This record gives sequence, C-alpha cells and structure tokens, in this order.
Amino acid sequence: MELIDQYLRKVNYLRVSVTDRCDLRCVYCMKEKMQFLPRKDILTLEEIERLCDNFIDLGVEKIRLTGGEPLVRSDIIKLIKKLNYKKSTTKLKEITLTTNGTLLKKFAKELKINGVNRINVSLDTINPEKYNQITRFGNINKVFDGINEAINEGIKIKINTVVIKNFNENEIEDLINWTNSKKIDLTFIEVMPMDETDVSREYQFTSLTEIFNNLNKIYNFKKSNHNTGGPARFYISDNLSVKIGFISPLTNNFCASCNRVRISSTGKLFMCLGQNDYVDFMDIMRKDYSDNYIKEKIKLALNIKPKNHDFMIGSKINQYMKRHMNVTGG
Ligand code: SAM
Ligand code: SF4
Repeated sequence: MELIDQYLRKVNYLRVSVTDRCDLRCVYCMKEKMQFLPRKDILTLEEIERLCDNFIDLGVEKIRLTGGEPLVRSDIIKLIKKLNYKKSTTKLKEITLTTNGTLLKKFAKELKINGVNRINVSLDTINPEKYNQITRFGNINKVFDGINEAINEGIKIKINTVVIKNFNENEIEDLINWTNSKKIDLTFIEVMPMDETDVSREYQFTSLTEIFNNLNKIYNFKKSNHNTGGPARFYISDNLSVKIGFISPLTNNFCASCNRVRISSTGKLFMCLGQNDYVDFMDIMRKDYSDNYIKEKIKLALNIKPKNHDFMIGSKINQYMKRHMNVTGG
C-alpha cells in the first residue's frame, strides 16, 4: 500500500515528536519560560507504536523520532526496540533520531544495539561560550562526548546547524573545518518562524543564499547526487571529504518533493511544517476505534496535505506558525 497525496507526492516518511520537553532552551526554538504539557496529554508508548504501525501498513518506510529532546523521554529505548523489531517484519527500513546530543554518551550504545545507525545532531556553534548562550545554559562538552561515543559505536552522524544572524554567520567555515576533520556531513538550516520566541525573528533570520555564494568561492561546490528524500540540497568539494547541505525553506521552496508528515507528542498529525492545519488523533487513539478507521483518517488527512508551506520572509517573517518547533520537531 502507498500513501499518495492530492499532488501525487508519495509520503513514506513519518516524524514523531515523542515529547515536547527538552533539557535545553535554544533561543530560536523556545522561550526561556516554557509551559510543558502534563504527561496525560502526551501519547503513551503504546499509542505511538499503534500509530506507527498504521503508517507502516500504509507505506511508511522511515521513522524519525524527535521532540523536544527525544532522549529525555524515559521509555524512548523501549519504543526504539519495538520499532526496530518491525524492520524485520514489515516494510519499515529505517529508524532514526534528531537529538541535541547532550544525552548521547549515555544512550549511543543502546541506540546502536537497537538498530539506530544514523542520527542527526543539532549543533549551532563549536564555541563553548556561544553554545551556552544559544542554548541558554548548555554544556558543549556533553555534546562533544556524545558525538564521539556515537562515532565509536558506529553510528553515522550528520550535524544540523541553524544559521542565526549576528551569531554564527562568522563561524560557518570553522564548522565546516571541524566536521570535515571528523568526517561528519553538515547541513545548514534557515531559521523558520515557528511561534514567538523572546526575540523577534527578523533579528534571527539570515538567508542562506549569500552564505552559499560566499562558501562557493572558497569550496567551488559541485552538486552532489546524494538525496535523503528531504529538503536539503547537498554539495561536495575537492577541498572537503564530507557533504555540505543547505535547507532553505524561506528562500528556496522544496515542497514539490515533500515526502513526509509529522505527528506531535499530543497526537496531532501535521501534514506540513509550515502550515497550521492538523488532524487530531489523540481522541481516536483513546477511544475504541479500529485500525481500519485510523488508516482511513490518515488517508483523508493526506488529501489535505497542502501544496506549499506558508513561510514568508521580509516584513512578513514575523507571521508565525502557531506552534514552537518542539511540537513537531525537525
Ligand atoms: N531537540 C532535538 C534537537 O535539537 O536536535 C530535536 C528537536 S529540535 C526542535 C529539531 C531541529 O529543529 C533542531 O535541529 C533545531 O535546531 C531546529 N529548530 C528549532 N527551532 C527552529 C526554528 N525556529 N527554525 C529552524 N530550525 C529550528
Ligand atoms: Fe531543545 Fe532541540 Fe529546541 Fe534546542 S532545538 S530547545 S535542543 S528542542
């Protein structure tokens, strides 16, 4: 079975935010004071698994666990273990994770044992003071230790870096050199207007177009045919042994090839990161509905997957989505 939306895009990738909580407060992601949800409002492990099962039956081949910080959810390894088992019994091919890396040292071994072979680690700077500043209180050494541990365990890492105006624009080459020395691919991402933070988005957003053009003068990039099915455009260079990706949702629309949908930790199915519409599965999961009913609801939701996201730049950069990034994760 396949999930095809109204624009004939095949959707085979599900992202699941397993918690809205996090051990950091990145300034472009959250407000300093966040109100997190009570546990009863968050999908249980069994509810997440059942939703995943239905998506897998409908053709989902890849599941990414995200958050909030997925590794702060206490039963996360149990979930990963259950999903890993499905790789041998269903069409599910990959389970992966987006993490801030602070708890990776503790979890790398268990992740690898349970079939997680690739993860994305978010890191916006390699400068300890700046890291502490952008995460509001984080300790970068935990992330470095976590990355090293994951590499030792044989997990392939990609670093995701959000490029933030007047913060890390001047560190881009350092980040490239650092990831190149560790043989880790690196992707740069534009800030997206996901709800309000304590700083207006126009003070955070910077376009990747100019950054790409400047880097291109140094690295003479060639387009890589590497394709994760995602929004990143990857480049290689004779001067580098890694790929450099660019995700530019605001300056370069990639919606025509979108292959994913997202479930929030509260069971809302978002068909697009850059739209406010969702279909709520919480009630459906907690009442006595059949798997067939769940599948029909998923198919109906796919019919309203929008053609494009609604992110805007310029004076409209402050038109926010009505949720923070930790609701659906990245
Ligand atoms: N806590 C995990 C982490 O940081 O990797 C997973 C969840 S986090 C919300 C997922 C990704 O979204 C991270 O790479 C983060 O940098 C990115 N992100 C958060 N807020 C964003 C925003 N407003 N615009 C662009 N990316 C954002
Ligand atoms: Fe937490 Fe990830 Fe958001 Fe940073 S980006 S506050 S690590 S959820």
